[in-house]
Amino acid sequence: MQFTVAIDGPAAAGKGTLSRAVAEKFGFAHLDTGSLYRAVGVKAEAEGRDPITVAQTLCSEDLARDDLRTLEAGQAASKVAVIAEVRHALLQFQRDFARRDGGAVLDGRDIGTVICPQAEVKLFVTASAEVRAHRRWLELGGDEAQVLAEVRARDDRDMNRADAPLRPAEDAVQIDTSDMSIEAAVAAACEVIAARIAQGPQG
Ligand code: C5P
Repeated sequence: MQFTVAIDGPAAAGKGTLSRAVAEKFGFAHLDTGSLYRAVGVKAEAEGRDPITVAQTLCSEDLARDDLRTLEAGQAASKVAVIAEVRHALLQFQRDFARRDGGAVLDGRDIGTVICPQAEVKLFVTASAEVRAHRRWLELGGDEAQVLAEVRARDDRDMNRADAPLRPAEDAVQIDTSDMSIEAAVAAACEVIAARIAQGPQG
């Protein structure tokens, strides 16, 4: 059975937590596509290498680095993510993952629009910049105003790039988590997915 759940949205909107919960509930495999861009950005910066070559030769060891969740890694990711050749190098792996047997959940910025426009379910998860920055700050600490500036800079880069900009697919269901508990967001997502599964395969 092939069944793809595409979950897109800006940084710290709750996509990661939501995707993991949904994957577990339905027994689907999960891919955090942001980790691919983070791994490319961090490795290219650390080794002073061309991000395109790094993307073309990315391996599982690169994805297992323990420095991928920092604010700096997020910035490095969004800088290499504007390069069309980097996106191209990572495309097929994500498409194959999306159509694997047994169902898949992918979270990122362009899953419903570019990677898997035929996904059975598309969710666009969002929240205000202030709420997202506050969550990141609780997670990583530091100066909250600086975290907010970082969130805004990344939103700006992700939404205004020429290739695969962050935007909801036309048929995406939007979930605004600003005033929602994670449990409520998971329940809303599961309801949409269960309803689509109940419809069975479509033309
Ligand atoms: O989701 P995460 O914060 O880990 O993503 C890091 C960066 O990687 C994003 O800000 C974005 O620039 C890039 N990204 C992307 N397309 C995706 C996933 C992430 O451009 N599908």
